[in-house]
Amino acid sequence: MRHGPFPYAPDFFRAPLSNPVRYHVISDMPARRVEQHYSQRTGWLRAAVLGANDGIVSTAALVVGVAAATPDRHAILLAGLAGMVAGAMSMAAGEYVSVSSQADTENADLAREAQELADYPDDELRELQAIYMARGLDEALSLQVAQQLSARNALAAHARDELGLVDIHAARPIQAAFASASTFAIGAAVPLAAAFLTRPANAITTVSVTSLICLASLGAIAAQVGGASLLRGALRVTFWGTLALALTAAVGKLFGATV
Ligand SMILES: [Zn+2]
Repeated sequence: MRHGPFPYAPDFFRAPLSNPVRYHVISDMPARRVEQHYSQRTGWLRAAVLGANDGIVSTAALVVGVAAATPDRHAILLAGLAGMVAGAMSMAAGEYVSVSSQADTENADLAREAQELADYPDDELRELQAIYMARGLDEALSLQVAQQLSARNALAAHARDELGLVDIHAARPIQAAFASASTFAIGAAVPLAAAFLTRPANAITTVSVTSLICLASLGAIAAQVGGASLLRGALRVTFWGTLALALTAAVGKLFGATV
């Protein structure tokens, strides 16, 4: 970014720091630190567990809702299958759009930054210096840090410390869409298989119990990996799953009787 003369607007440089997620990623911890940080390694697992949770809850709720309305095995299974495909596609589309627009924004920012580095290298150097001063280094040291980082890779330094971008070109929309859709489908397969393997009369109980057990286990696994309380992790997701199942069963019962 091109700003006025030194000193630069301090709020602009603090912006990335006030974002806790970005801030955590920005800080490069030395490898020999012994304490464990959970935030970094739970990213993909969190996404996978959330996708599977979604698949379990929404498909189980659909199956239970239809089973509450009709004893027709074909209708129950069809609802589950349609919910699985629709949910997976919806997750894929949402993830693709979200990651693509994120990537577009980051690429545009990087292109502008590269252009400014080419056009106004001195201003950009002082901009970097101002960022380090805003983070607490003194003027001389800030300049030294800015010079050394700029000599190595000026664009990377600006991307990281000015824009808050850590993994340049990390966004992969297709992979993200595929991962979202598959974790949802894997989760959705649980209530669908339960509905398939049971008689229509038992569908509500079997699907509900199977799904809630899986939800609780996933919640506990996510809590375990994230270093949080197992019981709280399991209870939280089970509560919402129970609520979803109870609500759709009520709706199915209500409208199944009248429609
Ligand atoms: Zn810059």
